[in-house]
Amino acid sequence: MNPSPATESGVIAVLNAGSSSIKFALFERRTGGPERDGPLLFRGQVERLGLEPRLSVKDAAGKVVAERSWPAGALDHHSATDAILECGQELLRGRPVVTFGHRVVHGGTEFAAPVRVDPAIVARLEKLIPLAPLHQPHNLAPIRAIARTAPQLPQIACFDTAFHRSQPAVAQAFALPRALTADGVRRYGFHGLSYDYIVRRVRDVAPAIADRRLIIAHLGNGASLCAVNGGRSVASTMGFTAVDGLMMGTRTGSLDPGVLLYLLKERGFDAQAIEDLLYRKSGLLGVSGLSSDMRTLRASDAPEAAEAIALFVYRIVREAGSLAAALGGVDAVIFTAGIGENDADTRAEVSAGCRWLGLALDEARNHRHEGRISRDDSPVSAWVIPTDEERMIAHYAGEALA
Ligand code: ADP
Repeated sequence: MNPSPATESGVIAVLNAGSSSIKFALFERRTGGPERDGPLLFRGQVERLGLEPRLSVKDAAGKVVAERSWPAGALDHHSATDAILECGQELLRGRPVVTFGHRVVHGGTEFAAPVRVDPAIVARLEKLIPLAPLHQPHNLAPIRAIARTAPQLPQIACFDTAFHRSQPAVAQAFALPRALTADGVRRYGFHGLSYDYIVRRVRDVAPAIADRRLIIAHLGNGASLCAVNGGRSVASTMGFTAVDGLMMGTRTGSLDPGVLLYLLKERGFDAQAIEDLLYRKSGLLGVSGLSSDMRTLRASDAPEAAEAIALFVYRIVREAGSLAAALGGVDAVIFTAGIGENDADTRAEVSAGCRWLGLALDEARNHRHEGRISRDDSPVSAWVIPTDEERMIAHYAGEALA
């Protein structure tokens, strides 16, 4: 991509780097009007980093426009970023990228909003690596790679934790000795870019509920709930790490810490084995013994698949009750992310568990992928709103240029 100063015809590039993949999206930059992020141009990813990496890119209509693969171990996060830049340059045919937006999982207590990255900011973000060792180093790798190849281009870090900094102190604290809380052992919450996006979309899709008491259910491979009041996060199910709260594809969600002590003291687990258990071997995968993927479990006749789904739904309903208490009542429930947007059965089962809150689902509407899915006379309304974390990052990157 051509390093260039901000121009009228520029492109906003978004990078979302995970442990084994880097997702990216390219948006046109708008120069007039309130929003600087224009139409999506391309969306793609490099997957299977560390194995046999594969790059694929689609245009805005979903047509595959680029594919490439490499031999095992050929790419790390730096060279994968370079490959994305090269591919982007070909697809953009000389249109300049004017800014990069990055998803960064942890902003600590310090970053309550996106920030333009410079070497001093990178150093501060590196200090947060111990709080998110599985994600933060990968998030920072493309920032460093771009700073090396295109140092003049602005890079904006957007944080998964930032949206939750509005929570009251009581919602952010553990009942730990004060010194540990002061050291940063507290509840941060995650999926903040998704919640931020949904809260803004609600203003267009359902303005009547935008300032009311909402429970937003981000149900994907990672899953969490967020309680929002007046457009601000007041509580969430994820805490110090993204393993807390709901049961997920391969993560446990909340677990009695006594289980960990037992595994460490009595069953010969070490820290690595605990990490594997909490993050990679549990959740839908661990309980079903079959798959972490909801589609596979829904298609299976195995009783273990049904048990895994039942526990997934039960945990959502229990935590929704907890967030309803934190909000002092609920006006609307919003479903989003892979399962929330596509799995009508999960929405129906969760809604049945939330009937006591006043949620009455409309079975016919529930087959929609967007819009209201509750009955007109339901005191608590329910909605499906597709999320778009890359669009949220593009918005912040464009805003920083304006
Ligand atoms: P990530 O957290 O990796 O971004 P996604 O938001 O893409 O994950 O969600 C992935 C989950 O969504 C998987 O469990 C997948 O099975 C589920 N999912 C996607 N489409 C459907 C569908 N049509 N029906 C049921 N589940 C679906």
